[in-house]
Amino acid sequence: MLEDKYGRRFHYLRLSITDVCNFSCDYCLPDGYQCDNDRDFLKVSEIKTLVSGFAKLGTGKVRITGGEPALRKDLCDILRVCTSTPGINHVAMTTNGFKLESDIQDWVDAGLNSLNISIDSLDPRMFASITGHNKLESILRGINKALALGIPVKVNAVLMKQYNEKELDAFLTWLKSTPITLRLIELMQTGDNIDFFNQNHVSGSAIKEKLQNSGWSQLIRDKSSGPAQEFYHPDFEGRMGLIMPYSKDFCASCNRLRISSLGKLHLCLFADQGLDIRPTLQNENDQALQQQLQALLGDKEATHWLQDGLTGATKHLAMIGG
Ligand code: SAM
Ligand code: SF4
Repeated sequence: MLEDKYGRRFHYLRLSITDVCNFSCDYCLPDGYQCDNDRDFLKVSEIKTLVSGFAKLGTGKVRITGGEPALRKDLCDILRVCTSTPGINHVAMTTNGFKLESDIQDWVDAGLNSLNISIDSLDPRMFASITGHNKLESILRGINKALALGIPVKVNAVLMKQYNEKELDAFLTWLKSTPITLRLIELMQTGDNIDFFNQNHVSGSAIKEKLQNSGWSQLIRDKSSGPAQEFYHPDFEGRMGLIMPYSKDFCASCNRLRISSLGKLHLCLFADQGLDIRPTLQNENDQALQQQLQALLGDKEATHWLQDGLTGATKHLAMIGG
């Protein structure tokens, strides 16, 4: 089992398979993906060693993320490698949804268990203004398709003062009859978005209060479920989640480790550096990998320092997948 000196257990791996993205979300890649050099992303064989090593150390859940993971032509091979690894009982993916409608059946056939889809606005014009793409309708159809196939869906929405702060009611109306979980994420500062962050950060606590004053109850989740807070309401099909990285004790329930698409271990979303484990992956030696991971975990810190404006090496979340 991967356990750090603070007693936190890491049974959840977030694996970025590319840092390329076709969207240009204002808070993440406002100028679109900038290709500075050729990137040699992790190969399927390396991913196999990686996931197997993590699984032998107690990891049960893998999330595929990016950049935009659906841009990888071998995405289904990657999903199959993850779902066929002994010990892995849940494979999820976070996507901007641009291929959801066309590809969901293939992903499900490859063993995908659940999806997180990013939708920052239910207003098609606002959605296009944030992401640079007029894809909302297709993504909503894709969500219905995923639900019909029995795939649980969470929708991620980043809260932004100048964009969607007033859209809570529209999201709630959607949740009334749609069995998804909507996760409102507090905007996080990154190396590249400081001005945007200062203009747009909204605290989740006012939303939490509003939910609780209108009949939503917080679910009791065990410590191993991670830092999100979840709420339910008897009159709503959907649930609400809040991710408040600036709140006290957010990191106490950290249960995840991250691997970048170039094979670096990130002990925190805002770590000062990624730790290169790729040579071990290339040797296809999952025992050496297990020893290396346990040794590296010794350096994981108790918390991030985001509240002090310290964003580590993270220029934007497309680098490691959020
Ligand atoms: N491209 C995929 C997508 O957008 O779902 C996966 C990668 S994206 C980096 C993962 C999640 O991080 C998305 O839900 C996105 O909204 C969120 N995200 C990106 N930058 C963020 C920021 N600065 N603060 C909070 N969330 C952010
Ligand atoms: Fe791309 Fe996701 Fe970043 Fe938007 S949030 S630019 S979809 S990586």
